[in-house]
Amino acid sequence: MFYIKEEFEKELCDICRRGGLPQYGGESVQKLFTICEILDERSKSFNLTAITEPWAVVRKHIADCLYFAEALRCEGAKSLIDVGSGAGFPSLPTAAVLPDTAVTALDSTAKKVAYMKECAAAAGISNFDGIAGRAEEAAHTALRESFDAAGARAVASLRVLLELCTPFVRVGGTFIAMKGAAALEEAEEAKSAAKVLGCELAECRQYFIPDLEEKRFLLIYRKISPVKAMHPRNYSQITKKPL
Ligand code: SAH
Repeated sequence: MFYIKEEFEKELCDICRRGGLPQYGGESVQKLFTICEILDERSKSFNLTAITEPWAVVRKHIADCLYFAEALRCEGAKSLIDVGSGAGFPSLPTAAVLPDTAVTALDSTAKKVAYMKECAAAAGISNFDGIAGRAEEAAHTALRESFDAAGARAVASLRVLLELCTPFVRVGGTFIAMKGAAALEEAEEAKSAAKVLGCELAECRQYFIPDLEEKRFLLIYRKISPVKAMHPRNYSQITKKPL
């Protein structure tokens, strides 16, 4: 059983207060609660996430994604593509707290996309859509350069991610990578990839989720110029010869 709603609300409110996050309204909290309940229910039969314990789900999934959503809100982005969103992180919590942002979740596993859509519908999140497909293919369709922002968590190394994600972003838009302790080294290693892909690292923002020791970062890139038509390359080229 996941938390009862009152417990969840109290705990989330406390985490937001201590973690410098906004206090979210009742409608957003209800949506976030439903995301957790459904994740808890479906994780019993379908391997969606390694994190299932309520205490950890609230911090490592929900709060973590709320830092992402807050950064996105500050950027003023009205559309987002979450590349490799899995069970909907960061896309589902982001859509829950930013109802005016059109959120698209892309994942190569159709079963996960079906899960996310079901979860969004159950939570009453109408600004959410899911697409099943590989990023390196989808980025050569009409989705190319059509989003204000792209984001990703736990999908690939930053160099690889930049090639997979930046083609979706319009010039002037933003790419936000959610990264752990190795973020700064990854950013260093990804310098030439960012240049090739017409991006600039605007900010490397460290944040702390209350009660967790882990170091986390949001790497915020700004897209300065269009990405050459050859990018993203096919996956084996991207990973074997990263930019
Ligand atoms: N972002 C989620 C899931 C991370 S697991 C979270 O942080 O919890 C990585 C996910 O990326 C998997 O669901 C996998 O199916 C998807 N994925 C990996 N490579 C991909 C690609 N090239 N295109 C689309 N999805 C991809």
